[in-house]
Amino acid sequence: MDKLVDSGKTKQLFQTKDKNVLKVHYTNHTTAGDGKRNEQIENKGAVNNQISSLIFQYLNKFDIPNHFIEQTSNTDQLNKKVNMIPLEVVVRNLSSGHFQKRFGTNNLQQLSKPVVEFFMKNDELHDPMVNDLDVQALNIANEHQLSKMRDLALKINIALINLFKEINITLVDFKVEFGIDESNHIILADEISPDSCRLIDTDTKESLDKDVFRKNEGNMMKGYYKVLHKLQKELA
Ligand code: 5GP
Repeated sequence: MDKLVDSGKTKQLFQTKDKNVLKVHYTNHTTAGDGKRNEQIENKGAVNNQISSLIFQYLNKFDIPNHFIEQTSNTDQLNKKVNMIPLEVVVRNLSSGHFQKRFGTNNLQQLSKPVVEFFMKNDELHDPMVNDLDVQALNIANEHQLSKMRDLALKINIALINLFKEINITLVDFKVEFGIDESNHIILADEISPDSCRLIDTDTKESLDKDVFRKNEGNMMKGYYKVLHKLQKELA
């Protein structure tokens, strides 16, 4: 039996026989409001594990280093062990969520350039936004690492915009996290799924992501399945 080494809001991490490899189990836990709302949503873990696995494999083609090794079951994948950098890196193409609130823009207004923002991972402080100098002053990452994360985030954005465009989905924004591997390289880690992206049907503008849960607008899995099935067809 693999030993549980860490448990996040939506995933459990198990040590494997190889000290550099973790088994990541995607659970059905779904949280919102810094974890205040916490529900089990049937099959969410399996769907997100499959979506994330497909996306990580797709990003490999664009030389975007990431922690994915292989999908081992519907709900599990093997990942390289990394030291996580405690930042959420958000990329925005259209105005929504916190950006829309902050600047009073129209919902889904096209931004003339993608925006990259950093947030410190800290539920108690509600993940405060931080700038480059904050990150360096707090010893979270250095200037070179910040620049690397920003470059990778923008590269991921281009690859994902193109992928989703092929399946008639618009990538509004997304959040990624990075880790440092045993060679001291920054690589993409965590997950990329409808839990961490805003995705809309390009024609109908229907939300295909966790916003449906955040806003209590019904069964969010309908959109998640749509994303999975379209990706499976596109990337098969
Ligand atoms: P916003 O800052 O507008 O709330 O979110 C921007 C993007 O980052 C959205 O796609 C949202 O799903 C993602 N995001 C922001 N914070 C989190 C978080 O704590 N967890 C997850 N899974 N995604 C997040």
